[in-house]
Amino acid sequence: MGHASTRSVALIGLSAHVVDVEADAVPGDAELHLVGLPEMSVWPARARIRAAILNSGTAWPDMRITVSVTPVIPPIYDAAADLALVVALLAVAGAIPPERITGRVFLGELALDGGIRPVRGVLPMVAAAVRAGISSVVVPADCAREAAQVPGAVVMPVTQLADLVDQLRHGAFRDHDNQEPDPAPSSSFAVDLADAPGNQAARRALEVCAAGGHHLFLSGDGPATMLAERLPGILPPLTDEAARKVAEIYSLAGRSHRAQGITPPLSAPHHSETPTAIFGSVAANRPGALSLAHRGVLHLADAPEFARTVLDGLCRPMDSGQVHLAGRGRSVHYPARFTLVLAARPCPCPEGRDCACPPEARRRYRARLALLLSRVAVRAPIEQSNRGTRAGEPSAAVAARVLAARVRAAHRLADTPWRTNAEVPAPDLRTRFPVAPEAAELLRSAVNTGLVTADGLSRLLRVAWTLADLRGVDRPQFDDAAAALELWKGADGDGAR
Ligand SMILES: [Zn+2]
Repeated sequence: MGHASTRSVALIGLSAHVVDVEADAVPGDAELHLVGLPEMSVWPARARIRAAILNSGTAWPDMRITVSVTPVIPPIYDAAADLALVVALLAVAGAIPPERITGRVFLGELALDGGIRPVRGVLPMVAAAVRAGISSVVVPADCAREAAQVPGAVVMPVTQLADLVDQLRHGAFRDHDNQEPDPAPSSSFAVDLADAPGNQAARRALEVCAAGGHHLFLSGDGPATMLAERLPGILPPLTDEAARKVAEIYSLAGRSHRAQGITPPLSAPHHSETPTAIFGSVAANRPGALSLAHRGVLHLADAPEFARTVLDGLCRPMDSGQVHLAGRGRSVHYPARFTLVLAARPCPCPEGRDCACPPEARRRYRARLALLLSRVAVRAPIEQSNRGTRAGEPSAAVAARVLAARVRAAHRLADTPWRTNAEVPAPDLRTRFPVAPEAAELLRSAVNTGLVTADGLSRLLRVAWTLADLRGVDRPQFDDAAAALELWKGADGDGAR
């Protein structure tokens, strides 16, 4: 009897797939069949569609309608295609001219009262639509600003199904004003290193980590978080591609209010957060704190307080640069390449309380971090800075040195897949990037005396290269190797071997 078709987008992890939504009607009892949704989702989706239509003042069509989605939506349906399903149904029933919905993408979840709810992941979904040649996108009003960030997208915001039907019927769409000024891209954090006086060793360690992409361990009773929060501000700005990826991750996490910008992100989960909040959820298709740190900084304050499963579970993402989750019939990967800043106080006593922990208790407390610390190349002590200490050097000055060192490293690594010293694999480090003989000699003796393992040696070499880049010399000399060794040990000599 009739046919109507439109489009929506399904997300698996961050990868978005445009789907065709088609509706067919034949005479018969008033019935709705949904094909191509996961079985568990059919009943709730049908209930939302039915209630939304009836509560929008539209009569339920008196015919047998089948709405099908191809390709089939993956095992978990996140309701973003609700809007496409309902407009296809209404078009085939004659409530909307079918040609008004063809060539458009509809995104949004239906509320029972006929409202249109925001959905997560609008940014990657709209980007996929535009890539597929469909620039006209209908999105929940709350997501319009986010959708409008995709170059080439023509965004139509909607809040109520009744309004949408009315506009489609009369062909009078109100386009989102794409000229609406977005908040200016932030190139600097509100926080500055100038406000964090004292702690010279930790500040230096922060600079080295920023320059080489190394992970950092701050140990002691001091303002670790204050310093970690200032690391993004001295990292080089994100490239366009990285900024786009970061924005997509925040969109999928439902955190699109993060100011779009070129400053690398900071993610600092509390130790009481669930593993799902930290690693992400495959069931909800939601990235966690690790992925919110992608291309930026992951800071774990009071790191030994985190659950052991969280601490040990960090190792694989650190090695691979992504979080892999599987369950409920699907598997997803979320990007997670970050610089880790671990911080730990010497013992589990509450701050400011007189400590009577035996050495064994302190050792056990620190041992919880053993696996992570084997991946950390730079350690620094941290202490409560004395009031009256002269102001610290501002972030801009440190950032300039970091950038110069990064440019040096990138130049050296130009014909390799790596961009920072921390990324260079161990074998290549030895064969392609030899250090000065005296530097090699010093590091060899550190291995021979058992101070450093072979694995640790690679991390030392990478830091030595960063120190050479910061000094602007061609390759690490004796002093760079000696300084790398000091950073490896940390001032209290508690470095993991
Ligand atoms: Zn204690």
